[in-house]
Amino acid sequence: MSKLKHKKHERRKYTVDGAVQGVGFRPFIYRLAIEHDLNGWVQNNASGVIIEVEGSSTNISRFAELLQKNSPPNAVITSFAAEQLALKNDSSFTIVDSDTDAEISASILPDLATCPDCLVEMNNPANFRYRYAFINCTNCGPRFTIVIGLPYDRPQTTMAEFKMCNCCSGEYKDPLDRRFHAQPIACANCGPHLELWDKAGNVIASHDDALTQASEAVKAGKVLALKGLGGFHLIADAGNDTAVNTLRQRKHRPRKPFALMVANLKQAKEYCVMSGAEEKTLQSPQAPIVLLGKKQSSKISQYVAPENPCYGVMLPSTPLHHLLMQEVERPIIATSGNRANEPICTDEHDALERLSGIADLFLVHNRPIKNCAEDSIVRFMAGQEMVLRRARGYAPLPLMLKQQTSRTILAVGGHLKNTVALAVADKLILSPHIGDLDSPQALTAHENAINTLCQLYGVEADMVACDKHPNYASTRMAETHVAKKYGGNITPVQHHYAHALACLLDNEITPPALAVVWDGAGYGDDGTIWGGEFLRINEKVYERISHFRPFPLSGGDSAAKNPSRAAFGLLYEAGLLKNTGLETSEEKLLKQALDKNINCPMTSSVGRLFDAIAYITGVATENSFEGEAAMALEFAAMTSGSTESYDFDIQDGIINWQKMLSQIFADQDVADQENKVSAADIARKFHNTLTDIIVAAAIGQTEKQVLLTGGCFQNKLLLERTVEKLEAAGFDVFWHNRIPPNDGGLASGQVMAQIMAQL
Ligand code: ZN
Ligand code: ZN
Ligand code: FE
Repeated sequence: MSKLKHKKHERRKYTVDGAVQGVGFRPFIYRLAIEHDLNGWVQNNASGVIIEVEGSSTNISRFAELLQKNSPPNAVITSFAAEQLALKNDSSFTIVDSDTDAEISASILPDLATCPDCLVEMNNPANFRYRYAFINCTNCGPRFTIVIGLPYDRPQTTMAEFKMCNCCSGEYKDPLDRRFHAQPIACANCGPHLELWDKAGNVIASHDDALTQASEAVKAGKVLALKGLGGFHLIADAGNDTAVNTLRQRKHRPRKPFALMVANLKQAKEYCVMSGAEEKTLQSPQAPIVLLGKKQSSKISQYVAPENPCYGVMLPSTPLHHLLMQEVERPIIATSGNRANEPICTDEHDALERLSGIADLFLVHNRPIKNCAEDSIVRFMAGQEMVLRRARGYAPLPLMLKQQTSRTILAVGGHLKNTVALAVADKLILSPHIGDLDSPQALTAHENAINTLCQLYGVEADMVACDKHPNYASTRMAETHVAKKYGGNITPVQHHYAHALACLLDNEITPPALAVVWDGAGYGDDGTIWGGEFLRINEKVYERISHFRPFPLSGGDSAAKNPSRAAFGLLYEAGLLKNTGLETSEEKLLKQALDKNINCPMTSSVGRLFDAIAYITGVATENSFEGEAAMALEFAAMTSGSTESYDFDIQDGIINWQKMLSQIFADQDVADQENKVSAADIARKFHNTLTDIIVAAAIGQTEKQVLLTGGCFQNKLLLERTVEKLEAAGFDVFWHNRIPPNDGGLASGQVMAQIMAQL
């Protein structure tokens, strides 16, 4: 009897949804079916892959089990459904050509770091791709950065101009090969190659020679512009003070930390402390920059990340970077190849012009970059990954919506750290980081990103969402170009409401929730600058239930560069300005502006409060980059173990900092020098107070879900302590994971506002 049972034949259909295209899923299914003696077929469709298999029941069950258990490393299965069918008696198992119309709506995958198999081949002298800088397979290599249109197929990529040689084409067509349908497949005989250019664009060397000479130049202290995967890097020897400072001077970047690239995990551990989870992210196919605690080492220049307890570290993510690291045998700086306020360069001729005066040499190649993707940045917060800059490796992997949207919604994002977003059916696609929209080049990149999303998905917008700020370049772009080109009405969305909805989406939760939205600045519903907000989020509406007591900010948005302006405004409002003594002419002018209320809008911003306290305690006097003073205050606080807090009042929803400010002055002013409280302790007490404020404000409300969002929650100390205290008080606390808490996440929240309004 049991023998008969084993012989029972059946046919089953499996529908697999998720990120299963372009990751070697069909060859994997093919191999699995052959191994289990099953006939039938596999095909890509709109949302993933469809499989029909016929054979013994036992084998089919085993096949289905292994399919889910052993799927390729980069495949993400979001749903798996089975269906019983009548036998059809196919004679073999085949990979059926894609249904191209259907595939348009399938996901475009992000670029993935070189896989271990390709790395072994690249380092094997017997392999025909030995030391080939563009080796890749279905498990790794470029995707989004080379795609021109969908379906994702060789002619629709920037690899179209390279004709495959017989070896490559053999692999490409073999369903059992790791490179079956690997669209960027190439080798030294048929694919892109390297060239080394001088500042005038003269070719100094090519192929392997270009790499060797470029490496020698880096070792000799030169600045190298390197065309990577999604744009240019500027590279210099991280152990050479002169090289690091040369790059700082040329890039007009006095203190903002530079990212480090190290050859491997072992090296990373030599310079940084890391947890198991951080180690895993560092080595992941996304290969982001991970912010890790510094270890003292004489091998890294102190100018790489001055006054910062962390390094931003990444491992090589392309074969070219691996080869370079092997040659230079030392940690390097790998920072975005751009000028201040401009987006990253992607074209070698453009780079020659825009990076002239910064780079000494240019290591370039002839594989065009269609879509830019900078390095992503990740920080671990409360034991969980938080993406602070979402780009290479992460974007444009869609975020799944809880409900289908019947309309196509386009969002143009904010002004700083701009990204754009598109919602189609059940997917929300957030573009990679574009940058601040302060230059014509940045605006072009912003417009290109919008066009890319709309063209790839073949859609026109029914609605265009933007920020409420009338002077954001993105808002103006929506009005002048986007709505005209793609259709749709423009709907402005309040800045902090968008932050809150981005956080809801990131956590896949639904209202009601209390959103704590703290950042540098956002245009408020009353025309003042908001940034220290408590919003009640309901199904369709929000309510500003609480906020910080506003203070005047001389210069408004432009005050973000000068913490002194926040400090003077705060002290002025508190009636404490007389205590500081006005010394410089700038200080006297500030006082005058405040007295006469000349361009001094009111702000409730916690970001500016950080600036003010950093300035008052002498921790920082300048923001040479966004958030510098606030970061300095966080780092100072990290060195203190104080558990004390300052006093505050909350009355009619207004959080008053008056008592705290007086106590900070008292702490600083203690006549007996020995009792004077250190800046670190003041910074720590300030952080503790902010957490106390959140807990006190939350306890007064009925919502059990609390969201922590906005740029201020990139602060690890603030976030972790707040999560701990809120959870202890019985709240369900949510913060960010895949969508940045800063303005890089705004576009996704703007889309969500339209979706929630439809419900
Ligand atoms: Zn590979
Ligand atoms: Zn080839
Ligand atoms: Fe913001």
